[in-house]
Amino acid sequence: MTEKKEIIGLSREELQAELTALGEKPFRTKQIWAWLYHQGVTDFAAMSNIPKELREKLAENYVISRPKIVTEQKSSDKTHKWLLEFADGQRVEMVYIPEEDRGAVCISTQVGCAVNCTFCHTGSQKLTRNLTAAEIVGQFMAARDVYNEWPTPTDETRYLSNIVVMGMGEPLHNVENVIKALKIIGDGDGIAVSKRKITLSTSGIAPKMAEIARELGVKLAVSLHAPNNEKRSKIMPINNKYPLEEVMEACQVYQGITGRRQAITFEYLMLKDINDSREDAQELVRLMRKYNLVAKFNLIPFNPWPGCIYQPSSNNRVHEFSKILESNGFAAPIRVARGQDILAACGQLKSKKETGQ
Ligand code: SAH
Ligand code: SF4
Repeated sequence: MTEKKEIIGLSREELQAELTALGEKPFRTKQIWAWLYHQGVTDFAAMSNIPKELREKLAENYVISRPKIVTEQKSSDKTHKWLLEFADGQRVEMVYIPEEDRGAVCISTQVGCAVNCTFCHTGSQKLTRNLTAAEIVGQFMAARDVYNEWPTPTDETRYLSNIVVMGMGEPLHNVENVIKALKIIGDGDGIAVSKRKITLSTSGIAPKMAEIARELGVKLAVSLHAPNNEKRSKIMPINNKYPLEEVMEACQVYQGITGRRQAITFEYLMLKDINDSREDAQELVRLMRKYNLVAKFNLIPFNPWPGCIYQPSSNNRVHEFSKILESNGFAAPIRVARGQDILAACGQLKSKKETGQ
């Protein structure tokens, strides 16, 4: 028996080609797409407007799968974390961060990460593999299963309204699958999360940024974390490969493609005595002026994890830093860490059990 193929994660064009090969007319693509991504069915038998013979043929050739939920944890602040497992046993964590009447699902793009930022728990794990498009889309679909958000609700009534690609991994080290997955997620006949509600965060893989702007046009967040090359290279070794100048120029290109109305968010992790001085803030302002970007900041308090070598900056330092940026005209809110008690906050995700925890 030949192995069945995964139907989730095929682009619309690929699905069309597969159905044509089975002798089907093009209109079936839209119907099946809607069952998969609008209704969220996990069984071909439920596709009631599809002839029985075709449903059987589909079931013989394909599977509709979801990542398996291994564990679920709820934080005291209602942040929800799941450990998900894929068919080969590899695992990633996914987080849901609720706001009043909406919320963001934080999804992963790789198992582990090859960028190895020194402050990041995920980065302390080697890269195991890229996630497939099916696995990236499947994470959000699994979250919708949990919150019963099928069929796709209208935009205004969604609890799972936003997606942040800020989980494990560097999305721009897995560009092809990330683009494919986010195009599926954005398709208006299915999951229908628009590009304005998706934020992709990158450590600054400069040569890949323009492609994301052209293909997706989602909101961009760049993990800056330092105002100059010397400091940045110490905490993010990737800076030796793509130094600040290249990252900032790539941001200019990004904004050139997506339009200047859409600000780029610079994430800035506040590490005690490493990058949190007044001089650092002032240098950051000069850097922004030099590149003339429409930019805002997100100051991130450092979330410690077992074995890390950094400490969070004091509240005073963080507020002072924010004030300097704001008095120079940049929005610089301080991010409230969510889900810390269940290690669901930024940089705390991992997929392997840590010993001694
Ligand atoms: N790889 C991408 C996206 C995932 S990391 C990137 O680096 O941008 C998402 C965010 O969490 C990044 O801004 C990252 O710098 C930040 N982060 C990593 N470790 C952290 C920690 N220990 N505490 C707080 N934020 C952290
Ligand atoms: Fe990878 Fe992002 Fe962690 Fe750096 S911060 S190691 S790029 S996941």
